[in-house]
Amino acid sequence: MMKYSKGLLVGLIVALCGLTSSLEAQGNTSYWQQHVDYTMDVSMDVKNYQFTGTQKLVYTNNSPDELRRVYYHLYFNAFQPGSEMDVRLQSIPDPDRRMMHEGKSRIATLSQDEIGYLRVSQLSQDGQAVNYKEEGTILVVDLNEPIPAGGKATFDMTFTGQVPLQIRRSGRNSSEGVALSMSQWYPKMAEYDFEGWHATPYIGREFHGVWGDYDVKITIDKKYTVGGTGYLQNAQEVGHGYETPGSKVKRVKGKTLTWHFVAPKVHDFMWAADPEYIHDIVEMENGPTLHFLYKDNKEIKENWKNLQPKTVDAMEFFNNNLGEYPYDQYSVIQGGDGGMEYAMGTLITGERSFGSLVGVMVHELAHSWFQHVLATNETKHEWMDEGFTSFISSLCMNLIMDQKKENPFEGSYNSYYRLIDAGKELPQTTHADRYDLNFSYSVAAYSKGAIFLSQLGYIIGQDKLMETLRKYYEDFKFTHPTPNDFIRTAEKVSNMQLNWYLTDWTQTTNTIDYGITEVVAVGDKTKISLERIGSMPMPIDLFVIYNDGTQETLYAPLRMMYGEKENPYPSLKRTVLPNWPWAYPNYSFELNKPLDSIKAIVIDPSQLMADINFENNFWQATQEAE
Ligand SMILES: [Zn+2]
Repeated sequence: MMKYSKGLLVGLIVALCGLTSSLEAQGNTSYWQQHVDYTMDVSMDVKNYQFTGTQKLVYTNNSPDELRRVYYHLYFNAFQPGSEMDVRLQSIPDPDRRMMHEGKSRIATLSQDEIGYLRVSQLSQDGQAVNYKEEGTILVVDLNEPIPAGGKATFDMTFTGQVPLQIRRSGRNSSEGVALSMSQWYPKMAEYDFEGWHATPYIGREFHGVWGDYDVKITIDKKYTVGGTGYLQNAQEVGHGYETPGSKVKRVKGKTLTWHFVAPKVHDFMWAADPEYIHDIVEMENGPTLHFLYKDNKEIKENWKNLQPKTVDAMEFFNNNLGEYPYDQYSVIQGGDGGMEYAMGTLITGERSFGSLVGVMVHELAHSWFQHVLATNETKHEWMDEGFTSFISSLCMNLIMDQKKENPFEGSYNSYYRLIDAGKELPQTTHADRYDLNFSYSVAAYSKGAIFLSQLGYIIGQDKLMETLRKYYEDFKFTHPTPNDFIRTAEKVSNMQLNWYLTDWTQTTNTIDYGITEVVAVGDKTKISLERIGSMPMPIDLFVIYNDGTQETLYAPLRMMYGEKENPYPSLKRTVLPNWPWAYPNYSFELNKPLDSIKAIVIDPSQLMADINFENNFWQATQEAE
């Protein structure tokens, strides 16, 4: 995309920090969510990567419906030749490179002792054996007795599993030599909500889980250090850096140790283990305890030490700008295949440049707000977790890495424009697994999702945007908020109507293109004519730069907003023009200044409005003279 001269940009991004929201939370009385209490006891054989486990699941049906079936996820079954994940990898034109080797799906080449699996060997409902059927990565369970609305059922299960060779997110023997990255590793109850069951097969990406409490015991070779979700209950028996500093660890005899973790109010449980982990602990003042687990590898040690104060900075940034992190612990663990967010921790690859290491930590930590605590259904609204995370991480990186970027979201805008140019956009309502291309998914989720917020800042003002985020967190933490919950929050904070924005931006591929069509003298005045070319509506900020160096702004609100933002450039005079009704393609007004006094006119110099054609946003007096 062409862009106009950067020289004209004048102090355009206003500080994106603001006042603390004092608005009170407003509960939605019709809202309900299911609840799970897991008690698991698993034993890992570190020689063949097979594990056995028991699981007691107390399921509380808070829905108004009687349930006759339940579904569990068996994610590890995706890592088998011929699985939906494997076939998808072989058929998508731009497969994830991590999952490919010499142009072939790595899943397709797994041998029997390298595949992943989760097999349920026994399942009962309230003490009675129950019928179940495995369908790929989903276990379908027909209940003996329906669970009534408001009722409970207890499911007792025994299961066996094999950890797949590390291919995607979880697995054994990662490319950086981490022994066990254990995410999506246990039979996990699917979520049932106001839209019904979300028994989504594991094909590629994004998750939705049931809120609840976890009690997990992991028995493993005692040389392994374990980290992950949950507070360790028996630190003095386990040691490995978890014990009270200077105290003596009292271990039971034998080759294994049993680690006992408890995690309240989460919807997932991850762990990782390696015999060579270094374990550093940072106690934050007025904040959680941070754990860092990384390989004892001299190439990466310095970066992982320097990462620790940056993690403190990032935690403080998110606490201040979004709301308090609600757990007492967060763990940054080397593992996985890139970066992935989990309850109370993350698995990230560690052999990176320092900037990249901080970048991935910041992104995954931000997911603690936009994915974990604000647990949107990511498979349906992936832009609300990846996009919001990208937005807030860009702001955080700009500050803690002192990047001084004029527009911290520039990368997101450029990716979005590339997607539009390529003609490969699908609406953001597309299910995360159903995009034709990974390229279309990632831009829709990350880039267009980040722009949803930065552009909302353009519409309602940056202070109101940040106030919206804080109120959204306060009102919807520990639930499954929807796109409508978010936009209603923005409406309440801004006192503007914004449903048009949610609809056009997230449910269509409509694009924004406004232009300056004509600038002419009318006596001593100047008539400026604008045009809406794209079908997506927007309010318009206009900058006028005069030959004497002075500037002023003009603002044409969109009629259907029924409101006006505050002047985003308080140091400049602003004139609020009559509102612009969307259906009118043309709009003109008279400026009380002679034409020959004007040097240039620019639509939205902040570039936060995602106008797909900047060339017509700019008028220069010299153009006329040529
Ligand atoms: Zn992410």
